[in-house]
Amino acid sequence: MKVFITGGAGFVGGHLSETFLDAGHDVEILDDLSTGSIENIEHLKGRKGFSYAIDTVMNERLTAELIDRADVVVHLAAAVGVKLIVESPVRTIETNVHATEIVLSHANKKRKKVLIASTSEVYGKSTDVPFREDGDLVMGASIKGRWSYACSKAIDEFLALAYHKERKLPVVVFRLFNTVGPRQTGRYGMVIPNFVRQALSGQPITVFGDGEQRRCFTDISDVVGALLKLSESEEAVGQVINIGNDSREVSIMDLAKLVKEKAKSSSEIVLVPYAQAYEEGFEDMPRRIPNLTKIKNLIGYEPKVDLDGILDRVIDHFMTNQGRI
Ligand code: UDP
Repeated sequence: MKVFITGGAGFVGGHLSETFLDAGHDVEILDDLSTGSIENIEHLKGRKGFSYAIDTVMNERLTAELIDRADVVVHLAAAVGVKLIVESPVRTIETNVHATEIVLSHANKKRKKVLIASTSEVYGKSTDVPFREDGDLVMGASIKGRWSYACSKAIDEFLALAYHKERKLPVVVFRLFNTVGPRQTGRYGMVIPNFVRQALSGQPITVFGDGEQRRCFTDISDVVGALLKLSESEEAVGQVINIGNDSREVSIMDLAKLVKEKAKSSSEIVLVPYAQAYEEGFEDMPRRIPNLTKIKNLIGYEPKVDLDGILDRVIDHFMTNQGRI
Protein backbone atom coordinates (compact mmCIF):
# COMPACT_ATOMS: atom_id res chain seq x y z
CA MET A 1 0.00 0.00 0.00
CA LYS A 2 1.15 3.55 -0.67
CA VAL A 3 0.43 6.10 2.05
CA PHE A 4 0.48 9.85 1.55
CA ILE A 5 0.98 11.85 4.77
CA THR A 6 0.45 15.61 4.87
CA GLY A 7 2.46 17.21 7.65
CA GLY A 8 4.69 14.15 7.50
CA ALA A 9 7.71 15.99 8.90
CA GLY A 10 5.87 16.95 12.05
CA PHE A 11 6.29 15.18 15.37
CA VAL A 12 3.42 12.75 14.73
CA GLY A 13 4.17 12.52 10.98
CA GLY A 14 7.78 11.42 11.44
CA HIS A 15 6.80 8.62 13.80
CA LEU A 16 3.83 7.59 11.65
CA SER A 17 5.94 7.45 8.49
CA GLU A 18 8.36 5.11 10.24
CA THR A 19 5.52 2.87 11.44
CA PHE A 20 4.07 2.52 7.94
CA LEU A 21 7.52 1.84 6.45
CA ASP A 22 8.22 -0.79 9.12
CA ALA A 23 4.93 -2.46 8.20
CA GLY A 24 6.12 -2.75 4.60
CA HIS A 25 4.20 0.14 3.06
CA ASP A 26 5.48 2.94 0.85
CA VAL A 27 5.28 6.45 2.30
CA GLU A 28 5.24 9.80 0.54
CA ILE A 29 5.08 12.93 2.66
CA LEU A 30 4.38 16.61 2.09
CA ASP A 31 5.43 19.23 4.62
CA ASP A 32 6.14 22.95 4.42
CA LEU A 33 8.34 22.79 7.54
CA SER A 34 6.32 25.58 9.15
CA THR A 35 6.11 23.69 12.43
CA GLY A 36 7.59 20.41 11.21
CA SER A 37 11.31 19.84 10.94
CA ILE A 38 13.58 17.93 8.62
CA GLU A 39 15.08 16.35 11.77
CA ASN A 40 11.84 14.43 12.22
CA ILE A 41 12.46 12.52 8.98
CA GLU A 42 16.26 12.56 8.83
CA HIS A 43 16.42 8.90 9.89
CA LEU A 44 13.99 7.92 7.11
CA LYS A 45 15.83 9.49 4.20
CA GLY A 46 17.24 6.78 1.99
CA ARG A 47 14.86 4.13 3.27
CA LYS A 48 13.29 2.08 0.52
CA GLY A 49 9.76 3.26 -0.25
CA PHE A 50 10.15 6.67 1.41
CA SER A 51 9.97 10.00 -0.41
CA TYR A 52 9.26 13.56 0.63
CA ALA A 53 8.27 16.89 -0.87
CA ILE A 54 8.86 20.20 0.89
CA ASP A 55 5.87 22.31 -0.05
CA THR A 56 2.49 23.32 1.27
CA VAL A 57 -0.84 21.52 0.97
CA MET A 58 -2.09 24.85 -0.45
CA ASN A 59 -0.08 23.98 -3.58
CA GLU A 60 -3.16 22.28 -4.86
CA ARG A 61 -1.71 20.79 -8.02
CA LEU A 62 1.04 19.03 -6.12
CA THR A 63 -1.31 17.85 -3.39
CA ALA A 64 -3.70 16.48 -6.01
CA GLU A 65 -0.85 14.61 -7.71
CA LEU A 66 0.35 13.09 -4.44
CA ILE A 67 -3.19 12.02 -3.57
CA ASP A 68 -3.52 10.41 -7.02
CA ARG A 69 -0.42 8.32 -6.40
CA ALA A 70 -1.57 7.07 -2.95
CA ASP A 71 -3.93 4.37 -1.76
CA VAL A 72 -4.52 6.01 1.63
CA VAL A 73 -4.13 9.63 2.75
CA VAL A 74 -3.39 10.70 6.33
CA HIS A 75 -3.99 14.41 6.77
CA LEU A 76 -1.92 15.69 9.67
CA ALA A 77 -0.84 19.09 8.31
CA ALA A 78 -2.27 21.68 10.69
CA ALA A 79 -1.40 24.51 13.03
CA VAL A 80 -1.07 22.92 16.49
CA GLY A 81 0.03 23.94 19.96
CA VAL A 82 -1.93 26.30 22.19
CA LYS A 83 0.84 28.91 22.19
CA LEU A 84 0.99 29.03 18.39
CA ILE A 85 -2.78 29.22 18.16
CA VAL A 86 -3.04 32.13 20.56
CA GLU A 87 -0.19 33.98 18.85
CA SER A 88 -1.11 33.25 15.21
CA PRO A 89 -4.88 32.83 14.93
CA VAL A 90 -5.13 33.76 11.22
CA ARG A 91 -2.61 31.13 10.28
CA THR A 92 -4.34 28.56 12.50
CA ILE A 93 -7.80 29.03 11.04
CA GLU A 94 -6.68 29.30 7.41
CA THR A 95 -4.32 26.34 7.57
CA ASN A 96 -6.70 24.09 9.41
CA VAL A 97 -9.77 24.79 7.36
CA HIS A 98 -8.42 25.38 3.86
CA ALA A 99 -5.88 22.55 3.79
CA THR A 100 -8.53 20.05 4.84
CA GLU A 101 -10.90 21.32 2.12
CA ILE A 102 -8.18 20.75 -0.47
CA VAL A 103 -7.32 17.26 0.78
CA LEU A 104 -10.92 16.09 0.99
CA SER A 105 -11.98 17.48 -2.38
CA HIS A 106 -9.09 15.82 -4.22
CA ALA A 107 -9.39 12.56 -2.32
CA ASN A 108 -13.04 12.55 -3.28
CA LYS A 109 -12.25 12.89 -6.98
CA LYS A 110 -10.19 9.69 -6.84
CA ARG A 111 -12.18 7.94 -4.09
CA LYS A 112 -9.15 7.61 -1.80
CA LYS A 113 -9.52 6.69 1.85
CA VAL A 114 -8.61 9.63 4.11
CA LEU A 115 -7.74 9.74 7.80
CA ILE A 116 -8.30 13.24 9.16
CA ALA A 117 -6.47 14.36 12.31
CA SER A 118 -8.55 16.11 14.92
CA THR A 119 -8.00 16.79 18.58
CA SER A 120 -9.41 16.38 22.08
CA GLU A 121 -9.45 20.19 22.08
CA VAL A 122 -12.82 19.95 20.28
CA TYR A 123 -14.44 18.78 23.53
CA GLY A 124 -13.64 22.27 24.75
CA LYS A 125 -14.95 23.17 28.18
CA SER A 126 -17.10 20.08 28.50
CA THR A 127 -16.98 18.63 32.01
CA ASP A 128 -18.60 15.37 30.92
CA VAL A 129 -15.44 13.26 31.43
CA PRO A 130 -14.38 10.78 30.18
CA PHE A 131 -15.14 12.28 26.78
CA ARG A 132 -17.13 10.07 24.43
CA GLU A 133 -17.06 10.70 20.70
CA ASP A 134 -20.79 11.42 20.64
CA GLY A 135 -20.60 13.87 23.58
CA ASP A 136 -21.25 17.60 23.26
CA LEU A 137 -18.51 19.98 22.14
CA VAL A 138 -18.52 23.00 24.45
CA MET A 139 -16.72 25.98 22.97
CA GLY A 140 -16.02 29.34 24.57
CA ALA A 141 -16.68 32.78 23.14
CA SER A 142 -15.15 33.76 19.78
CA ILE A 143 -13.33 36.70 21.41
CA LYS A 144 -11.17 34.11 23.17
CA GLY A 145 -8.57 33.12 20.62
CA ARG A 146 -7.91 29.64 21.93
CA TRP A 147 -11.28 28.38 20.71
CA SER A 148 -10.39 29.09 17.09
CA TYR A 149 -8.37 25.88 17.10
CA ALA A 150 -11.22 23.74 18.41
CA CYS A 151 -13.66 25.40 16.02
CA SER A 152 -11.38 24.99 12.99
CA LYS A 153 -10.87 21.32 13.79
CA ALA A 154 -14.60 20.83 14.40
CA ILE A 155 -15.23 22.27 10.91
CA ASP A 156 -12.70 19.75 9.53
CA GLU A 157 -14.66 16.98 11.23
CA PHE A 158 -18.00 18.21 9.90
CA LEU A 159 -16.59 18.47 6.38
CA ALA A 160 -15.04 15.00 6.47
CA LEU A 161 -18.26 13.46 7.77
CA ALA A 162 -20.25 15.38 5.15
CA TYR A 163 -18.07 13.96 2.37
CA HIS A 164 -18.69 10.53 3.80
CA LYS A 165 -22.44 10.95 4.14
CA GLU A 166 -23.17 12.79 0.92
CA ARG A 167 -20.46 11.51 -1.44
CA LYS A 168 -19.60 8.15 0.17
CA LEU A 169 -15.94 9.11 0.61
CA PRO A 170 -14.22 6.66 3.00
CA VAL A 171 -13.06 8.93 5.84
CA VAL A 172 -11.86 8.26 9.39
CA VAL A 173 -11.66 11.14 11.88
CA PHE A 174 -9.36 10.62 14.86
CA ARG A 175 -9.07 12.85 17.94
CA LEU A 176 -5.64 12.86 19.56
CA PHE A 177 -5.38 13.41 23.31
CA ASN A 178 -2.17 15.05 24.67
CA THR A 179 0.29 13.01 22.63
CA VAL A 180 3.94 13.04 23.71
CA GLY A 181 7.24 11.45 22.77
CA PRO A 182 10.79 11.83 21.52
CA ARG A 183 11.35 14.70 19.05
CA GLN A 184 8.30 16.68 20.13
CA THR A 185 9.23 20.34 20.37
CA GLY A 186 8.15 22.59 23.21
CA ARG A 187 8.25 25.61 20.91
CA TYR A 188 4.49 25.68 20.40
CA GLY A 189 3.61 25.28 24.05
CA MET A 190 3.36 21.53 24.75
CA VAL A 191 3.88 20.96 28.41
CA ILE A 192 6.10 17.85 28.69
CA PRO A 193 8.91 18.89 26.33
CA ASN A 194 8.88 22.30 28.03
CA PHE A 195 9.08 20.87 31.55
CA VAL A 196 11.84 18.44 30.53
CA ARG A 197 13.89 21.17 28.86
CA GLN A 198 13.47 23.46 31.88
CA ALA A 199 14.29 20.70 34.37
CA LEU A 200 17.42 19.56 32.54
CA SER A 201 18.75 23.06 32.00
CA GLY A 202 18.12 24.16 35.58
CA GLN A 203 15.56 26.80 34.58
CA PRO A 204 12.34 27.32 36.55
CA ILE A 205 9.61 24.81 35.67
CA THR A 206 6.66 26.97 34.64
CA VAL A 207 3.27 25.68 35.82
CA PHE A 208 0.48 27.77 34.31
CA GLY A 209 -2.56 28.75 36.38
CA ASP A 210 -2.82 27.00 39.77
CA GLY A 211 -1.51 23.66 38.43
CA GLU A 212 -4.70 21.84 39.45
CA GLN A 213 -5.76 21.26 35.82
CA ARG A 214 -5.41 17.60 34.92
CA ARG A 215 -4.46 15.70 31.80
CA CYS A 216 -3.88 12.12 30.59
CA PHE A 217 -0.80 11.71 28.39
CA THR A 218 -0.42 9.27 25.49
CA ASP A 219 2.84 7.96 24.08
CA ILE A 220 3.38 8.56 20.38
CA SER A 221 4.11 4.84 19.82
CA ASP A 222 0.59 3.96 20.99
CA VAL A 223 -0.89 6.61 18.70
CA VAL A 224 0.93 5.57 15.53
CA GLY A 225 0.21 1.88 16.18
CA ALA A 226 -3.48 2.75 16.40
CA LEU A 227 -3.34 4.81 13.20
CA LEU A 228 -1.79 1.93 11.27
CA LYS A 229 -4.63 -0.33 12.35
CA LEU A 230 -7.29 2.30 11.68
CA SER A 231 -5.94 2.78 8.14
CA GLU A 232 -6.64 -0.91 7.51
CA SER A 233 -10.01 -1.06 9.27
CA GLU A 234 -13.20 -1.08 7.19
CA GLU A 235 -15.31 -0.66 10.30
CA ALA A 236 -13.58 2.62 11.21
CA VAL A 237 -14.82 4.32 8.03
CA GLY A 238 -17.31 7.12 8.71
CA GLN A 239 -16.39 7.19 12.42
CA VAL A 240 -14.95 9.74 14.83
CA ILE A 241 -12.49 7.99 17.13
CA ASN A 242 -10.63 9.04 20.31
CA ILE A 243 -6.98 8.01 20.59
CA GLY A 244 -5.51 8.51 24.04
CA ASN A 245 -4.49 6.88 27.30
CA ASP A 246 -6.89 6.80 30.25
CA SER A 247 -4.67 4.89 32.66
CA ARG A 248 -3.44 7.87 34.71
CA GLU A 249 -4.80 11.35 35.16
CA VAL A 250 -2.20 13.74 36.54
CA SER A 251 -2.38 17.37 37.67
CA ILE A 252 0.07 19.69 35.97
CA MET A 253 1.63 20.50 39.36
CA ASP A 254 2.22 16.81 40.06
CA LEU A 255 3.59 16.43 36.54
CA ALA A 256 6.10 19.21 37.23
CA LYS A 257 7.20 17.45 40.44
CA LEU A 258 7.53 14.13 38.63
CA VAL A 259 9.64 15.61 35.82
CA LYS A 260 11.86 17.39 38.37
CA GLU A 261 12.38 14.14 40.28
CA LYS A 262 13.03 11.99 37.21
CA ALA A 263 15.42 14.53 35.69
CA LYS A 264 17.21 14.84 39.08
CA SER A 265 16.77 18.57 38.65
CA SER A 266 17.31 21.39 41.10
CA SER A 267 14.95 23.69 39.17
CA GLU A 268 12.32 25.49 41.21
CA ILE A 269 8.66 25.05 40.25
CA VAL A 270 6.95 28.40 39.67
CA LEU A 271 3.31 29.33 39.07
CA VAL A 272 2.70 31.57 36.06
CA PRO A 273 -0.72 33.21 35.64
CA TYR A 274 -2.53 32.27 32.43
CA ALA A 275 -2.72 35.94 31.41
CA GLN A 276 1.08 36.05 31.41
CA ALA A 277 1.59 32.63 29.82
CA TYR A 278 -0.95 33.08 27.02
CA GLU A 279 -3.21 36.14 27.01
CA GLU A 280 -5.71 38.02 29.16
CA GLY A 281 -8.90 36.01 29.71
CA PHE A 282 -7.35 32.69 28.60
CA GLU A 283 -9.54 29.70 29.42
CA ASP A 284 -8.04 26.31 30.22
CA MET A 285 -9.75 22.94 30.54
CA PRO A 286 -9.83 21.58 34.08
CA ARG A 287 -9.81 17.92 33.04
CA ARG A 288 -9.45 15.94 29.84
CA ILE A 289 -9.86 12.16 29.84
CA PRO A 290 -10.64 10.02 26.80
CA ASN A 291 -13.33 7.38 26.71
CA LEU A 292 -11.60 4.61 24.74
CA THR A 293 -14.45 2.11 24.40
CA LYS A 294 -14.88 2.72 20.69
CA ILE A 295 -11.26 2.26 19.65
CA LYS A 296 -10.89 -0.78 21.91
CA ASN A 297 -13.85 -2.41 20.19
CA LEU A 298 -12.72 -1.40 16.70
CA ILE A 299 -9.07 -2.45 16.73
CA GLY A 300 -8.42 -3.99 20.16
CA TYR A 301 -6.48 -0.86 21.16
CA GLU A 302 -4.68 -0.97 24.51
CA PRO A 303 -2.15 1.79 25.28
CA LYS A 304 1.14 0.24 26.42
CA VAL A 305 3.34 3.12 27.61
CA ASP A 306 2.43 4.71 30.96
CA LEU A 307 3.37 8.19 32.17
CA ASP A 308 6.64 6.99 33.73
CA GLY A 309 7.62 5.37 30.45
CA ILE A 310 6.68 8.49 28.50
CA LEU A 311 8.79 10.75 30.72
CA ASP A 312 11.76 8.35 30.68
CA ARG A 313 11.69 8.28 26.88
CA VAL A 314 11.46 12.07 26.53
CA ILE A 315 14.18 12.74 29.12
CA ASP A 316 16.44 10.16 27.50
CA HIS A 317 15.90 11.65 24.06
CA PHE A 318 16.54 15.15 25.34
CA MET A 319 19.78 14.10 27.03
CA THR A 320 21.16 12.22 24.04
CA ASN A 321 20.34 15.09 21.69
CA GLN A 322 21.74 17.82 23.93
CA GLY A 323 18.44 19.60 24.28
CA ARG A 324 17.57 19.71 20.60
CA ILE A 325 13.86 18.94 20.83
N1 UDP B 1 1.27 24.13 30.71
C1 UDP B 1 2.05 24.54 31.77
N2 UDP B 1 3.32 24.96 31.51
C2 UDP B 1 3.86 24.96 30.26
C3 UDP B 1 3.06 24.53 29.18
C4 UDP B 1 1.77 24.11 29.43
O1 UDP B 1 1.60 24.54 32.92
O2 UDP B 1 5.05 25.35 30.11
C5 UDP B 1 -0.10 23.64 30.99
C6 UDP B 1 -1.20 24.19 30.10
O3 UDP B 1 -1.69 25.42 30.58
C7 UDP B 1 -2.25 23.08 30.16
C8 UDP B 1 -1.40 21.81 30.31
O4 UDP B 1 -0.12 22.23 30.77
O5 UDP B 1 -3.07 23.21 31.29
C9 UDP B 1 -1.22 21.04 29.00
O6 UDP B 1 -0.76 21.96 28.03
P1 UDP B 1 -0.44 21.57 26.53
O7 UDP B 1 -0.24 22.85 25.79
O8 UDP B 1 0.65 20.56 26.50
O9 UDP B 1 -1.75 20.81 26.02
P2 UDP B 1 -3.31 21.19 26.13
O10 UDP B 1 -3.87 20.16 27.05
O11 UDP B 1 -3.46 22.57 26.66
O12 UDP B 1 -3.80 21.06 24.74
